[in-house]
Amino acid sequence: MHELAIAQNIVDHVLTQIELHSYQRVETVALRIGDLTDIVPEALEFGFEVSTRETVLADTRLRIETVPIRCSCDECGTAFVVADRFLFQCPNCGSYSVTVLQGTELEIAFLEIDDGEPDEIREQSISDKEARTV
Ligand SMILES: [Zn+2]
Repeated sequence: MHELAIAQNIVDHVLTQIELHSYQRVETVALRIGDLTDIVPEALEFGFEVSTRETVLADTRLRIETVPIRCSCDECGTAFVVADRFLFQCPNCGSYSVTVLQGTELEIAFLEIDDGEPDEIREQSISDKEARTV
């Protein structure tokens, strides 16, 4: 099962971050997953649940944001969202020669940390930091 291995990787990465930064508790792990990755969110959620059992992440929420497939046309430069993932065709000039701009993402968007400080302020600052560094 593909997603279980991915979930295990994510959990390992987050556990490393916890150790590195001495986080008290991770409330949420937010992922960004492109539509081109073939990852089934439900399977990934299940994998995450299995991988976090008996760890400090047992109560951590997993939040998955999917990223649509965006392309740009090699002929006329038009940028467009691919509605049908099997049809990579420029809506402007009809060319099939396109470059994928986004949709292949598999990354941690941010971690929501609870370190005992007032929630909102602290979470926001950590989120910004994680979004830049992960
Ligand atoms: Zn075009």
